[in-house]
Amino acid sequence: MNATITDFVGRPAVAPVSRVEAFIRANEFDRPTLVLDTKAVANQYHALKAGLGRAHIHYAVKANPAREIVEELVNLGSHFDAASRGEIELCLSLGAAPETISFGNTIKRASDIAFAYHAGITLFAADAEEELEKIAEHAPGAEVYIRLIVDASEADWPLSRKFGCARDKALDLLAMATRLGLKPVGFSFHVGSQTRRAEMWTTTLDQIAEIWHRAHAQGHQLTLLNIGGGFPAFYGEAIDHPTKYSARVMALVTERFGDVERVMAEPGRGLVAEAGMIAAEVLLVSRKSNDDAHRWVYLDIGKFSGLAETMDEAIRYQFITDRDAEPTGPCILAGPSCDSADVLYEKRPVQLPVGLKAGDRFIIRNCGAYTSSYSSVGFNGFPPLDVIVI
Ligand SMILES: *Cc1c(COP(=O)(O)O)cnc(C)c1O
Repeated sequence: MNATITDFVGRPAVAPVSRVEAFIRANEFDRPTLVLDTKAVANQYHALKAGLGRAHIHYAVKANPAREIVEELVNLGSHFDAASRGEIELCLSLGAAPETISFGNTIKRASDIAFAYHAGITLFAADAEEELEKIAEHAPGAEVYIRLIVDASEADWPLSRKFGCARDKALDLLAMATRLGLKPVGFSFHVGSQTRRAEMWTTTLDQIAEIWHRAHAQGHQLTLLNIGGGFPAFYGEAIDHPTKYSARVMALVTERFGDVERVMAEPGRGLVAEAGMIAAEVLLVSRKSNDDAHRWVYLDIGKFSGLAETMDEAIRYQFITDRDAEPTGPCILAGPSCDSADVLYEKRPVQLPVGLKAGDRFIIRNCGAYTSSYSSVGFNGFPPLDVIVI
């Protein structure tokens, strides 16, 4: 809970993130502001790429669609996973080549498929018959990969239920894609966001490998394995260095799939979370009664203005205050809006300095992913998260 905490086991906080902290400390903010460092994104890209080797990185744009981040990644040679026409247009407008963009959402508007096809995008995801029909009609002859359900995710933010189809059904969809004149090239899955240890991928990879080999036995010449995202960020619990983590994941992939022609990885969080901090402010510290064991600390940012991932207290951010040398006590942390759901941490209270008071600066660490992109336009009149790129 202080600025000198280490980011990875045995490794001090990466210098570029300190640039963000220094910037926040040197400036005043009149609303919650996410400060991002594109150099930190570049460092993280190189670190992940070093472990991923021959796999292509397709940045999951939804994690943070800041133009400067996408532009930096285009320059680094990254590919992109886009979920909508808007994300595709963003990538194209910043110089990404259409053949480096995959349309990875399994729930696409027909007119968006047509738009993507005419823009030169050739790779689409699907997990249902109707989706294949839409793709065959609006992107004839395109390459498709079938998204599989992941049964048992050990991730802190699982994505398992909404996307993908069961493994037996995936075989039917491959056959159907061929009948429709599409090119079924492989499978995709998502192990679950914030999968903290590489070993947690094992069960999922076993499941995917079983169906991969069955598809081959049925004569499908699959060439593409899309391993999705899941690469973790540091939120207080030790994680491996990104190169070590991604190298281990690739070793687990190679053990099961051999030399697949094309491997795609789609990091979102793991690429951008540690590149940003939010400059926030304490609006009120109170107790509900004279013998209340906890203080309530209300911030100028909450669930609706950027901290949606505190839902169910799933993602536990780390904080920096100007009083981190003081003793601490347990606090319930809440946002400013008039909605009782806007409580960030209550089941597991957070330890904050006893002297914390209204007007204090409050820095939220490693929150470059899924904050600005989740912020409402201004629920309850509180301004949406501002973004500054340094
Ligand atoms: C959101 C998403 C990702 C990124 O996941 P992270 O856990 O943030 O790395 C990757 N692929 C798909 C299809 C996604 O929807």
